Amino acid sequence: NFFCKELPKIELHAHLNGSLSQATMLQLQRYYVDAGISDKTNTFLDEFQIGAGDTRNLSECFQVFSIAHSLTSTSEALVMATELTLQEFQEDGCCYIELRSTPRDTQYITKKQYIDSIIRAMEKPSINLSIISKLIISINRASQLQEVEEIADIAIERHKIHPDTVVGIELSGNPAVGNFGDFIPALNRARQSGLKVTLHCGEVCNPEEVLEMLNFKPERIGHGVCIHPKYGGTEETWIALCQSKIPVEVCLTSNVNTKITPDYESHHFKELIEAGLPVVLCTDDKGVFATSLSQEYRLCAESFGLTRIQVAKLSLDAAQYIFSEANIRELIIGKILKFMNDYAS
Ligand code: IMP
Repeated sequence: NFFCKELPKIELHAHLNGSLSQATMLQLQRYYVDAGISDKTNTFLDEFQIGAGDTRNLSECFQVFSIAHSLTSTSEALVMATELTLQEFQEDGCCYIELRSTPRDTQYITKKQYIDSIIRAMEKPSINLSIISKLIISINRASQLQEVEEIADIAIERHKIHPDTVVGIELSGNPAVGNFGDFIPALNRARQSGLKVTLHCGEVCNPEEVLEMLNFKPERIGHGVCIHPKYGGTEETWIALCQSKIPVEVCLTSNVNTKITPDYESHHFKELIEAGLPVVLCTDDKGVFATSLSQEYRLCAESFGLTRIQVAKLSLDAAQYIFSEANIRELIIGKILKFMNDYAS
């Protein structure tokens, strides 16, 4: 446990609103009370967490995010939510994070102000943060096409102004909704402007969409559950992934708690590693699933019998798949190697 916490780690798949801890949500509630925005104080925090054996179906699981959304509707709240979340990742031994979030128009702010608040918290935090943080802008699969184009425009514009902070664009949301093909024009525009792309892929059984997504050649994919034939994929989807060598952001507890995967031992992490595919351990929604990045490393080590060197190597390899420039990569690799050297001596 201590080893997994002390190891410098890299988080590449964390949704801001799903990452809010109970402590952060309580602080945000207090902010709303102090700001006199009283309609935000009656949220049911207990319903936010999805534990093992939760009986809610996939669509019901997606409803929990509205609880977090009610607490991130102003600029101040977003700055606070971002800073506190980054601080928690830092305290858990995370040295680099690509946080992602879906811009929303709220009663108080526009989508642009939403994104600018997160950027401000990353670039000029009011608290002392040493963690390197970057932003991936999310598009929800349930969005209307006009909104998708609007978000792509914001991502492109903000990437131009803050190229070192806004590094990517991604597609997420309920996988049972929407068609990937509809998002390709917006994603292509974002890509042409220099943004990297990651896609939630294979969260539900949909081999045609998996093939379409792999064909798009995103820089990374999230989850990648239903790709191997054993887990709802086909020979064709599995071969396509193996040939593409696209890194997979693996979220163990998220997949287990949402029942996409029956238990940790039968997680497709095993098949990915055996096939020599690049993987990155991630939390997905550490608040919703009451987990942490160090816990995901520990659970992975326990479930698949990894040695400490193998665990450290997972973090080291993750540095290859970040969306930031080479100088940042070298910096993180240096940190992880130093830890490994210190640990060995
Ligand atoms: P936000 O983008 O910061 O508001 O974070 C919450 C949002 O992330 C949710 O409303 C979903 O659109 C997305 N999200 C979080 N977890 C998952 C997941 O496991 N699969 C797909 N989308 C997700």
